[in-house]
Amino acid sequence: MISLQHVSKRYGSSLAVDDLSLEIERGEFCCLIGPSGCGKSTTLRVINRLVEPSSGTILVHGHDVRLARPEVLRRSMGYVIQSVGLFPHMTVQENIGVVPRLLNWDKARIRRRAWELLELLALPPDEYAGKYPWQLSGGEAQRVGVARALAANPDILLMDEPFGALDPVTREHLQTELARLQQELRKTIVFVTHDIEEAVRLASRMALMREGRLVQHDTPEELLAHP
Ligand code: ADP
Ligand code: ADP
Repeated sequence: MISLQHVSKRYGSSLAVDDLSLEIERGEFCCLIGPSGCGKSTTLRVINRLVEPSSGTILVHGHDVRLARPEVLRRSMGYVIQSVGLFPHMTVQENIGVVPRLLNWDKARIRRRAWELLELLALPPDEYAGKYPWQLSGGEAQRVGVARALAANPDILLMDEPFGALDPVTREHLQTELARLQQELRKTIVFVTHDIEEAVRLASRMALMREGRLVQHDTPEELLAHP
């Protein structure tokens, strides 16, 4: 489903990702885990081409992402980051509609989709669709971030410490919701975290990184049994 083959990324003289190869199967919940600065975000971002690798190949559904058009990448991969990055001048519904608008969906379809996603994420649409980001709590904003990433029904969700900025209670709540969503929707998820407990709770496979390299790739059970 996602195949990274000998991927490296160099920034000046420093090697952020060092000859990393990783296979992620359909429906897998893969947590990229490791200390800050070990190259997790960079690895995530080469998948949707927010970062251009210095060398190596990335295949998604067997296709080289270098050859994919930007709209195709955006449609097939939702992206969620820690700071959420909702557009402040847009309502919740408009934020959810960012990628669908790019894909020229008509207004009625975008509205229906936003309504459906807000319901899925336990934000009553009547109440939330017209709100602006500053009117949302951190947890609500992050839910909208997830809704936006799901808007065009991508197969793949790329999540970069999505709950890192939340208080522990909200964080646990959203972890539970994400696990439920994953059961229902069967997305392929690549999830960056430096929190081992979070990874163990969510992951079907864990990819452990250190200094740009993949040092272990296993189920949480195996990884904990043979660290
Ligand atoms: P992690 O997500 O594990 O914290 P990153 O992938 O963000 O790690 O970063 C890996 C390394 O690459 C770090 O040393 C970081 O400083 C460096 N790096 C990341 N992005 C850039 C950039 N845009 N320019 C220069 N160096 C970068
Ligand atoms: P930001 O700097 O706030 O991330 P962008 O314009 O890069 O601003 O992205 C806005 C939002 O659009 C992101 O938070 C993400 O949800 C979505 N997005 C950006 N790039 C991609 C991509 N390559 N694939 C899928 N979604 C993307």
